[in-house]
Amino acid sequence: MSNVVVFGAGVIGLQTAVTLVEAGYKVTVIAKHFPGDESTEYTSPWAGAQWRTHATADQIEQCQWDIASYKYWINMTKKGAEGRSENGIEIYPSYFYWATPTEESVSPSSIWFASHTHNFSVLPARSMPPDTYAGVLYDSIAINPSKYLASLLSRVTNLGASTIRAMLPTEAGLAGAIEEAERLLSQVGTEKVEVAAFVNCTGLGARELVKDENVFPIRGQTLLACIPSVTSPLNQPSSPLPPPAIYTREDAATPSITYIIPRPGTSTYVLGGTKQVNDWTVAADKTTTLEIIERCRALWPALREAEIEMLATQVGFRPGRKGGARLEAEEVQVNGKTKFVVHQYGHGGAGYQNSIGSAEKAVALVGECVRKGDDKEVRETVKDQEIASRD
Ligand SMILES: Cc1cc2nc3c(=O)[nH]c(=O)nc-3n(C[C@H](O)[C@H](O)[C@H](O)COP(=O)(O)OP(=O)(O)OC[C@H]3O[C@@H](n4cnc5c(N)ncnc54)[C@H](O)[C@@H]3O)c2cc1C
Repeated sequence: MSNVVVFGAGVIGLQTAVTLVEAGYKVTVIAKHFPGDESTEYTSPWAGAQWRTHATADQIEQCQWDIASYKYWINMTKKGAEGRSENGIEIYPSYFYWATPTEESVSPSSIWFASHTHNFSVLPARSMPPDTYAGVLYDSIAINPSKYLASLLSRVTNLGASTIRAMLPTEAGLAGAIEEAERLLSQVGTEKVEVAAFVNCTGLGARELVKDENVFPIRGQTLLACIPSVTSPLNQPSSPLPPPAIYTREDAATPSITYIIPRPGTSTYVLGGTKQVNDWTVAADKTTTLEIIERCRALWPALREAEIEMLATQVGFRPGRKGGARLEAEEVQVNGKTKFVVHQYGHGGAGYQNSIGSAEKAVALVGECVRKGDDKEVRETVKDQEIASRD
């Protein structure tokens, strides 16, 4: 059984660890943050989080990743209500609107994911919120990040993976981090562990770890809210909210995206949000919070008269990357030895919906590294034998 070490315990690292263990690898996850932690250095807990593909038809690989996740989650939701609330995922109707004409919104009926999503239809103009150019409706998935991340962690540890909480040094680059990871592993076990491959799932942390200047933050401010009922005119009893659904309105002309996403397993919703490139501001902005509430009331008619009880304001930083997510293998020299690394970071605002398909690709790359490592070992043994027979 080959040993693989995963750096990072966000949705990308944990899903990769699950897929690796299921493929028969012995896995150790090393990370500074794990599920349950709240830090702006740890993106995954702050996500919306819904399946809403950002891929365009020509981005074949990203389309495949997103479809793999969609199918996987739809199957998961079929496993019964209990399984769903444990995993923090749920299926909802998703109303998606475009504010302006775009390549996709000018012809929504031929959008690439129409044939992959369930119950897809184009919304008639009369049913759309104000200032909306086009809209579609399809079944989608909302995720409760804290439950989902916790369930990934317990799945992977129940399947035999180990975890080490540690900050890997960044000053000496990837080689320094690998050296430290090997030192940490040697402290845990009694035998020396030969690591067949390292998988780098450090999200925004990759900016420092591998000095990737293409990685940048995309700030997202949201609020967690409880919406108990819709207030009715004087002397009338207030009515309950209509059944939950996902509502999203994309406005390409602004650094914002408006959404209302139910948090599965709770009676709360996430209201969003912003997409502020290269903005590292950690504190939530009060004016932005009020604007988000106003935009959400315009998006979902039921909210216009509803009481919105604000539970928390939240800020997270999506791991953006010029050129898209990096998924490739690299050979790194550490003290004269070749180490195999598979990079998997920079999924921007799509880490959840990419996660299943992206992890499958990373595991395939790990397989190639293991084969290369085995070939190298055989070549070196033959060479040693030849030298020994000559002496
Ligand atoms: C407001 C908001 C809304 C979003 N909505 C959606 C959505 O609707 N759908 C969707 O698919 N995605 C969404 N996203 C994006 C998604 O959350 C991210 O793409 C995803 O969480 C990135 O996961 P990750 O595992 O790469 O990074 P992270 O979750 O940041 O995990 C990185 C891991 O690496 C570790 N690490 C980093 N550096 C080091 C180091 N030197 N040593 C040790 N450990 C290290 C960290 O401790 C952590 O464990 C949203 C994000 C935000 C902020």
